[in-house]
Amino acid sequence: MTELDFTDRVGRVSPSATLAISNEASALESDGVDVVDLSVGEPDFDTPENVKQAAHDALDAGETGYTPSPGIPALREAIAEKLRADGLDHSAAEVMVTPGGKQALYEVFQTLVDDGDEVALVDPAWVSYEAMAKLAGGSLARVDTTPYEFRLEGALDDLGETVSDETELLVVNSPGNPHGMVYSDAALRGVRDLAVEHDITVISDEIYQRVVYDDRELTSLGSLSGMSERTVTLNGFSKAYAMTGWRLGYFAGPEELVAEAGKVHGHSVSCATNFVQHAGVEALRNTDEAVAEMTAAFERRRDMLVAELADRGLEVPTPEGAFYLMLPVAEDDQAWCEAAIGEAHVATVPGSAFGTPGYARVSYANSTERLQEALDRLDEHGLLGAGA
Ligand code: PMP
Ligand code: GLU
Repeated sequence: MTELDFTDRVGRVSPSATLAISNEASALESDGVDVVDLSVGEPDFDTPENVKQAAHDALDAGETGYTPSPGIPALREAIAEKLRADGLDHSAAEVMVTPGGKQALYEVFQTLVDDGDEVALVDPAWVSYEAMAKLAGGSLARVDTTPYEFRLEGALDDLGETVSDETELLVVNSPGNPHGMVYSDAALRGVRDLAVEHDITVISDEIYQRVVYDDRELTSLGSLSGMSERTVTLNGFSKAYAMTGWRLGYFAGPEELVAEAGKVHGHSVSCATNFVQHAGVEALRNTDEAVAEMTAAFERRRDMLVAELADRGLEVPTPEGAFYLMLPVAEDDQAWCEAAIGEAHVATVPGSAFGTPGYARVSYANSTERLQEALDRLDEHGLLGAGA
């Protein structure tokens, strides 16, 4: 039999841990096991009705062909308008519409990171940044915010020691996956100062921008002085509008970067799905109420989870956005997660997948009843609290 010869590039990466565990949970469920799936980061709501209607209307109007590669003008303009409201001055030509935020990231990494280039990540960091850096041939420099309860402002000195003139790209993510923390303005200014000092391009992954609690105001990194020319602002429709399966996202940055990344885009995906882009315009323009309702539901679940954990003697840093919480577990977080899914039938993701062993990521985009059920099951199996 012919032996297939795979590239070193693909050999450097592992499958996505978040997707792998969610697949394991689905497989158990199809065997009839009742799993509380707190693994994948996916809203448990349906897409708002008017957004679905916009897709129907676009299909009925025959919007089924290729679109201009970087996106339909109406969506690029709606995105530019939204970014302007966030204090980012981008024209539609500086926006690339992609099939999901992941593809946006992939294109930016492919365009900016050469073999051996250093990519700096803030741990715990979402699983795919490392893989994308490696697929582009980059090397990694990592700074850990765990000792500072996942707050970047505590780790700014460490970040200053981690990045240098050799750093090509820094990725920041607020509200952050997997911990839900929001960067303070002081943290953002710290990032800006280092990026300017060392001439670093920064990806600001703002995909959880609209899932933020306690009426907190967010500042977009690219709106800080000195940052517009070096920031790639990344966002998507999956989380804010419950549109994970639609696959729609975007990035905005300097026009030359968008044009250069357009080669990767054009040769790989051609364009995002036509009628989905039309639905994207509706999502941006007419969903404030639906987004507020979903966010309020996530906030109630956060409150419930943090309070229930405190009742069980587990004080955790209170997430400020997104729908994740980092649960302190056994040192061997992989073994803990295996026990959690295998014995208690509760699916979570090991912190080590995000560069932070000793924790499990809990995605609380699930009903309060199911969250309660998960806690009860973990408790019953001795998996919560000290020494778990
Ligand atoms: N960034 C972060 C931090 C995420 O958690 C996700 C979730 N998959 C993405 C980007 C990409 O999401 P999507 O491709 O569904 O837009
Ligand atoms: N971002 C989500 C998560 O972290 C979706 C899965 C993925 O794309 O990794 O679970």
